[in-house]
Amino acid sequence: MVSACLLGLNTKYDGTNNLNQKVLKFLNDKVFIPFCPEQLGGLPTPRLPAEIISFPDFKVININGEDVTENFLRGAKETLKIARFYEKNISGIILKEKSPSCGVKYIYDGSFQKKLIPGMGVTAYFLFKHGFKLLTEVSLGRE
Ligand code: SF4
Repeated sequence: MVSACLLGLNTKYDGTNNLNQKVLKFLNDKVFIPFCPEQLGGLPTPRLPAEIISFPDFKVININGEDVTENFLRGAKETLKIARFYEKNISGIILKEKSPSCGVKYIYDGSFQKKLIPGMGVTAYFLFKHGFKLLTEVSLGRE
């Protein structure tokens, strides 16, 4: 499985993507499933940027201060459903680092000032807790 935005799908909050050639190359000879937890959680695209303000008892707000935790939790649960459905065939999940859904080692600190802190996105945490091997575009190495 792979964060859809890394493949060039325009699922990012601002309606663009995070196309990553290293990820594309890595997946070249593999079968994969793209997913976007924030879309699966019912949020529109484009949407307001959101950050986690409490971890791991997740609380997520958007830049207007609106609580979008429910959407993030729903997206994480729906992603987990897909992962468990294909569990036997999944060797790893590639996630977009720093995202409040997909970040594996770093997330933004909730101040909307582009300050990174160690932490996991909501979906990454759910997948990690269920034992899936998590990779990111960063852990795969430079493009
Ligand atoms: Fe990409 Fe994940 Fe954000 Fe969706 S939620 S745009 S897959 S980083």
